[in-house]
Amino acid sequence: MLIHGKCHCGNIAFTLAWDPDPREIPARACGCTFCTKHGGVWTSNPDGKLTVKVLDGSLVTRYRFGTETAEFHICSRCGIVPLVTSRIDDRLYAVVSVNAFEGVDPSLLKRSPASFDGEGEASRLARRKRNWIAKVDWTA
Ligand SMILES: [Zn+2]
Repeated sequence: MLIHGKCHCGNIAFTLAWDPDPREIPARACGCTFCTKHGGVWTSNPDGKLTVKVLDGSLVTRYRFGTETAEFHICSRCGIVPLVTSRIDDRLYAVVSVNAFEGVDPSLLKRSPASFDGEGEASRLARRKRNWIAKVDWTA
């Protein structure tokens, strides 16, 4: 399955190849202080392949907080946050926002709350290496 997503104005777009086709897509409503404020709900497939296309990089704000090991990519024109990346051991990992999906049947989304409070930095990075998308192609 090819999942397409983009911010509202289309400046940040992504395609996530999910093979084999998912019977359900985990949708984690993140309980961190930032995601609580903007309603961040994320998914990833460690075997997926993500292609990101940014039309105008000057209109992307990268926001970090807390351990500063992840970057939220915020479209400065429309305010949407389609993805988060984390660079670990020189590899770029990513999760994408199910809120930015285009044309995906909502009944595929298996929503659940997620809280990573109290997780140490080492276990946080290890979890991302296990769960986040490990193949990320970036075209600007
Ligand atoms: Zn935008």
